[in-house]
Amino acid sequence: MLFAQVKVGVPKEVKAGERRVALVPEAAKKLVDKGFEVVIEHGAGDEAHLSGAEYQEAGAALGSAADAWAADAVLKVAPPEPSETPRAGGVLIGFLNPLTSPDLVKRLAADRVTAFAMEAIPRTTRAQSMDALSSQAVVAGYRATLAGAQALGKFFPMLTTAAGTVRPARVLVLGAGVAGLQAIATSKRLGAMVEAYDVRPAVKEEVQSLGAKFIQIEVQQDGEGSGSGEYAKEVSEDIQRRQQQLLADRVAAADVVITTAAVPGRPAPRLVSAEMVRGMRPGSVVVDLAAETGGNCELTAPGSVSVKEGVTIDATLNLPSQMPLHASLLYANNVVNLLTHLAPEGELALDWDDEITAGAAVTHDGEIVSERVRDAMGAPA
Ligand code: NAD
Repeated sequence: MLFAQVKVGVPKEVKAGERRVALVPEAAKKLVDKGFEVVIEHGAGDEAHLSGAEYQEAGAALGSAADAWAADAVLKVAPPEPSETPRAGGVLIGFLNPLTSPDLVKRLAADRVTAFAMEAIPRTTRAQSMDALSSQAVVAGYRATLAGAQALGKFFPMLTTAAGTVRPARVLVLGAGVAGLQAIATSKRLGAMVEAYDVRPAVKEEVQSLGAKFIQIEVQQDGEGSGSGEYAKEVSEDIQRRQQQLLADRVAAADVVITTAAVPGRPAPRLVSAEMVRGMRPGSVVVDLAAETGGNCELTAPGSVSVKEGVTIDATLNLPSQMPLHASLLYANNVVNLLTHLAPEGELALDWDDEITAGAAVTHDGEIVSERVRDAMGAPA
């Protein structure tokens, strides 16, 4: 081998409630086969039911937290806690919340870490295999639907039994991006009648192809709500108010409302008011996936499940962590695809003209290299 082998470290996640791991054995094997040396902290896969023996079989070594953090490239799920530090000059890949974590970003720059934020991977066709926000949103949309079905005192499917016939549940999905489309698909599989609304009319066909009804609200002017790529942009307050008026009837008719509306870098749009919740039948359910950014429902209390006006409001955070095995498997594939993009021949070769490398990088060589992050921090260029 002509170059020094890149050592990849995977520490155990320490954030409370985080059950995922950044690399599963299958993904570790892919890296080993490409010539990387992989060290996994003892117990890193425990919460996802992945044993140390499975990692060893894949060709990885087991080590201490210090061994994992001393690697050339550290792979993480949650942002590092203050006690967790990559080595100076090393690479860090993980969810970093860079737009809202100025202290972490400053620390990584000061430590001369080259940090890549998985949430900053561009949502483009080329970067699709690295798009961890999407892979985890698929898990969240699925789990949100199961949570809604579980909390509802009714069947989702129509049933004809000797004891009588029950009508199918009505599910309303607000926001038909990645999580919303998965919520629609899962609700349909469970037999519910599904309606969906999104501010981007472009998603109508996708919604209909899943067998759901698309709610058309003729309030936006041309292009209003459609942002760049696959993302939405914020709509005006006036339009938001008119959307709410038009959605009130649909919310009242629903047994379960799953809200997933999001605009990158902005607080979640408020789509379901307290008054709309009061209009729902007691026993109905709202599952608010946008809780992390404030919630789409006025009554959302992020991180909790509460009953208000007889309606269950589920604002559980970090749903992917509830399904740690498959969430980790998909995330690990995203991370491996990014790492092998950054180090195609097993050696780091950062091409700053590449939109994926430049788009995902937050800090490098002592600098904050992301313009969006600098803007969010109000820092000079
Ligand atoms: P996405 O960008 O793919 O989809 C969001 C959708 O909301 C877009 O289609 C957008 O057009 C739509 N939207 C924006 N403003 C709207 C409005 N005013 N009215 C109607 N629709 C509107 O995002 P995603 O990956 O599907 O994630 C959706 C949400 O789920 C985000 O808030 C994300 O943070 C959250 N999420 C939560 C968890 C969890 O565990 N709770 C996990 C993953 C994702």
